[in-house]
Amino acid sequence: MIFNPEQCAIPDERMKPFIDPEEIWRHLQENKATPERVREIIAKAIGKNRLTLAETAVLINADDPALIEEIKQGARTLKEKVYGNRIVLFAPLYIGNKCTNNCTYCGFRASNKDAKRMTLSDEEIVKEVEALEDNGQKRLILVYGEHPHYSPEYIAHTVNLVYSIKRGPGEIRRVNINAAPLDIEGFRTVKEAGIGTYQVFQETYHPEAYAWYHLGGKKKDYEFRLTSLDRAQEAGIDDVGIGALFGLYDWRFEVLGLVRHANHFEACYGVGPHTISFPRIQAASMLNMDGRYLVNDDEFVRLIAILRLAVPYTGLILTARETARVRKEVMRFGVSQIDGGTKLELGSYSDSKNQDQDLNKEQFKVNDDRSLNEIIDELIGEKYLPSFCTACYRLNRTGEHFMEFSVPGFIKRFCTPNAILTLAEYLEDYAPEETAKKGWEAIEENLQELGNSAQVQDIRNRLEKIKQGTRDLYY
Ligand code: SAM
Ligand code: SF4
Repeated sequence: MIFNPEQCAIPDERMKPFIDPEEIWRHLQENKATPERVREIIAKAIGKNRLTLAETAVLINADDPALIEEIKQGARTLKEKVYGNRIVLFAPLYIGNKCTNNCTYCGFRASNKDAKRMTLSDEEIVKEVEALEDNGQKRLILVYGEHPHYSPEYIAHTVNLVYSIKRGPGEIRRVNINAAPLDIEGFRTVKEAGIGTYQVFQETYHPEAYAWYHLGGKKKDYEFRLTSLDRAQEAGIDDVGIGALFGLYDWRFEVLGLVRHANHFEACYGVGPHTISFPRIQAASMLNMDGRYLVNDDEFVRLIAILRLAVPYTGLILTARETARVRKEVMRFGVSQIDGGTKLELGSYSDSKNQDQDLNKEQFKVNDDRSLNEIIDELIGEKYLPSFCTACYRLNRTGEHFMEFSVPGFIKRFCTPNAILTLAEYLEDYAPEETAKKGWEAIEENLQELGNSAQVQDIRNRLEKIKQGTRDLYY
């Protein structure tokens, strides 16, 4: 059992705002970092215990370069120990960029008259998804602006449409959502369409800073957004993703805000968030903000390592907002999911003539524009095991990250075999010869590491079936 009520500084109530800025600042001021304390806390996290706010604050306050190294090493050890070498791959699909809000950092904001507004028609969604399937994608996150056009019924319609599109061996097996907060009824409607994770990023957990950046529309309401994923839980969506947009306010505060959000979910629903995202502000059309809180690369690595240690059972997502170099660096400290072959411009997966980035058509700039195959190549070269697994979600094994973390042998029994099987499908159906060769070698190495059990023999049998054309085998 990971939830210890004493870890929550204030009693939690469902659907009630739970962030107290003074409490967060107090933790940051009072919990000084001594080498002994930092080491104790790292050891606690490596022992698979999730950290309190006070303990996380100690790690945040560790400024000494040698201690920062120890924190990074701790995160690395925890990642290797708990999650192994798998990296799950997905792609974002922007459905529409109409927006009634005015988030000053976002190219889609209503006041940006230069933005070219569009919503993909059903025919265009089909073309986009076919192009994504032709690349080998199996997991998508659909992204929408906030606009009456993007009602829960419309979102559910697009999800159903995406699941129905099959081309050759291609199919999308998991659709996640990043869209505006809904009411409970709305969340019920999208749940019925069979979504995976519903993500809503708080952007900044600091209420005053939140007001600086959110100048109009429904998103102005800090509390409505903060409690959005409680409404999702009430509607039965227990697979939720939280996030903060780093660069809006002090990163130290935001890390504690994310941890506070995670422990609120544990307290109220007995399950933490499925994923945490930590986008950094990127260039966007007419982006106009002072750079006071921008997070540099060193701080970024640090905060990811701290999050890994603080909430060890949650998936960490890193997107193509970051450069290939930064992605490669931070993946070692705890990231478990990345996107590949990402294009943000609406309609650009299927429109090969239109591949130049145009900030008037995108929400922000993509910094890693490598193809899915280039990313898979690099992952294999770095000894990661690329995975398109969607098994837990389809077998109703909710709380999969928690199980990976807490059920002995879960990764060996389920995650690694499923990563191997889904990679094998990719290699057979989509990979160029060179990648296929390296990929099969990587599969063999991973099988060797799994040992010589009856299950390994079963995986080998399934791999043979995949070579003969059977698809979608999973444990
Ligand atoms: N419109 C919905 C919303 O605001 O929640 C969902 C989609 S929004 C397009 C997805 C996320 O992109 C936002 O939550 C925000 O964190 C991030 N984002 C917005 N502008 C950005 C920028 N300039 N750089 C990096 N990320 C940005
Ligand atoms: Fe609209 Fe979302 Fe961009 Fe805000 S972040 S302007 S809500 S698309």
